Amino acid sequence: MTDRLDLAAHLRYYEEMGVQGISRDARWRQRGAATNAPNARNVPNAPNVPNAPNVPNASSAIRLTEIRADIGDCTRCKLHSGRTHIVYGVGNPEATLMFVGEGPGADEDLQGEPFVGRAGQLLTQIIKAMGFAREEVYIANVVKCRPPGNRNPEPDEIAQCEPFLHAQIAAIRPRVIVALGKFAAQTLLATDTPISRLRGQFHQLRDVHVMPTFHPSYLLRNPAAKREVWEDMKMVIARLKDEARGPKDEG
Ligand code: URA
Repeated sequence: MTDRLDLAAHLRYYEEMGVQGISRDARWRQRGAATNAPNARNVPNAPNVPNAPNVPNASSAIRLTEIRADIGDCTRCKLHSGRTHIVYGVGNPEATLMFVGEGPGADEDLQGEPFVGRAGQLLTQIIKAMGFAREEVYIANVVKCRPPGNRNPEPDEIAQCEPFLHAQIAAIRPRVIVALGKFAAQTLLATDTPISRLRGQFHQLRDVHVMPTFHPSYLLRNPAAKREVWEDMKMVIARLKDEARGPKDEG
């Protein structure tokens, strides 16, 4: 906890000095044009976007650290009693692309990182197929503690945890969120429409485009559905490229 607060103070210090990011990468010195372009962050093969070094914005990183500190050693819902680790989220604080799952499983609970089990390995393959490294995107869940026996998260558990997910989204400001499965999609979009009807098209969450798709665990049981998920991911790639192109080049 002290280390996290130290880090937050340290990053705030840099931010007050006007430092917008920290990197050992020499290319970071050339960041101006590339990283200041609106929405030009971390888009694979984006037209007119030079290879921008992947440098976290200090304020996004600080906000994520503060939100994690707010969660603390959480006992807000009954899931706390069975957990090993709170699974907060992982990835680039400045990601343009964010993935939201349901809640940690056994592997995630043990390791404290989302999507590291079998479903996670499949998600990592999907992310790579989209042209991203796993570290370039941000991955989080609706509930941050493992539901016992991998049961579905219950409404009171979702209600307690959901504000932290929204705070993470506000800190990262992704352009697109891929909602993995029914719980992520229905929670983010505040609907009870089935995932089979939500997927395949964008929905709006304030200024963020949300693409619901099937959960990787469902794909492990129903490999034929990978085709539909890939159709959804192609729409996500196209949307990110459109966003990176910016208003001048549109049309
Ligand atoms: N399933 C999820 O929804 N989230 C994880 O982190 C792992 C599996």
